[in-house]
Amino acid sequence: MKMKEMYGSLGISDAVLEFGLDIEKQLKERFAAIDETAEYNQMKVIRAMQECRVSDIHFAATTGYGYNDLGRDVLEEVYAKTFHGEDALVRPQVMSGTHALHIALSGNLRPGDELLSPVGKPYDTLDEVIGIRDAAGSLKEYGVTYRQVDLLPDGSFDYEGIRAAINERTKLVAIQRSKGYATRPTLSVSQIGELIAFIKGIKPEIICMVDNCYGEFVERIEPMEVGADMMVGSLIKNPGGGLAPIGGYIVGTKACVERAAYRLSAPGLGKEVGASLGLNQSFFQGFFLAPTVVAGALKGAIFAANIYEKLGFSVVPDSTESRHDIIQAVTFGTPEGVIAFCKGIQAAAPVDSFVTPEPWDMPGYDAPVIMAAGAFVQGSSIELSADGPIKPPYAVYFQGGLTWYHAKLGILMSLQKLTDAGIVRL
Ligand SMILES: *Cc1c(COP(=O)(O)O)cnc(C)c1O
Repeated sequence: MKMKEMYGSLGISDAVLEFGLDIEKQLKERFAAIDETAEYNQMKVIRAMQECRVSDIHFAATTGYGYNDLGRDVLEEVYAKTFHGEDALVRPQVMSGTHALHIALSGNLRPGDELLSPVGKPYDTLDEVIGIRDAAGSLKEYGVTYRQVDLLPDGSFDYEGIRAAINERTKLVAIQRSKGYATRPTLSVSQIGELIAFIKGIKPEIICMVDNCYGEFVERIEPMEVGADMMVGSLIKNPGGGLAPIGGYIVGTKACVERAAYRLSAPGLGKEVGASLGLNQSFFQGFFLAPTVVAGALKGAIFAANIYEKLGFSVVPDSTESRHDIIQAVTFGTPEGVIAFCKGIQAAAPVDSFVTPEPWDMPGYDAPVIMAAGAFVQGSSIELSADGPIKPPYAVYFQGGLTWYHAKLGILMSLQKLTDAGIVRL
């Protein structure tokens, strides 16, 4: 079977395929640069695994308290080395990115302290962690106050506002790398470094924590290399490489990680407990694969930006911008556009391709949301996935793809559904 016939057998028309291949041809140089970053980061991970003498004994399961879990301890050493931290907490007991951020914050803040976000409002799930929206057990309930300085209209840091916001109670600064669902640009690691240097110049003892979700392995350097005290993320995003079935991580200074560990388990117990339940091998192997998985996801994001920009839709980041996370937003301007796009992503999935996604009223959202995901790990967003709130400006956010070829098929299928629905003409 010829390649064209193979795509045809999956439902991609010749016109859609040719349109996609034309775009792909123009992306050779950018894809080569992504491959080079992946190669560099692959070496980084292998070197860390070699230096930590990773061995098959580290894949053995522990149960119960998990005392002396060698694999868990070495995995944490590998994370710390790769990301340039003194120590790390990498656990299946950390249930999500939000949980990891909650532990990092509540472990390192005390009553009377103030938390500052110098990059605008944090990711939605942190509203209740911080107490921006009232919730039982929020930092606010424990007497930790919160202050926020928004980015300037052009997306740059409001240095004067930040200087004015820092006071004798400011203990921890939370810097979110990825834009999440906001419209601001994602921050590069070097921009994060400039911000940290500015903050430490005013008050050196401030703890700088970076929410690194979706950012791992996109660049050659990570936030710890530009002065962060902690970086935090989810294992069902980039660093789990698609193989981790659960988990979150914190990499940081020894003191910061220790305080977070006391919060995760119990004061006095810290990192000493927590059985790995047979998950160590997936964590190691996923971390090993993560640089190439992230490269595939990045190629998919850039491919989509170029396709939909060429068709006249607004895309963020745009077709030529440099990338600092794996998220791509496309604004279709109509509910039908959002729905067709998500149907395409779903139809191209290896799992649940026969399911048709529909908008529904999800708890916590003020408009119906449509989601497409045909994932091996439920909710994993390093796997190809998309979601769009059915409200103006009718944008979809999508990310992931464990392989470039799958990301490519998903985007071609989205274009197929948009042309079938008469929304796009090639
Ligand atoms: C995904 C994400 C989170 C929360 O992670 P969950 O695993 O969904 O709880 C926090 N911050 C950012 C920027 C994210 O992208």
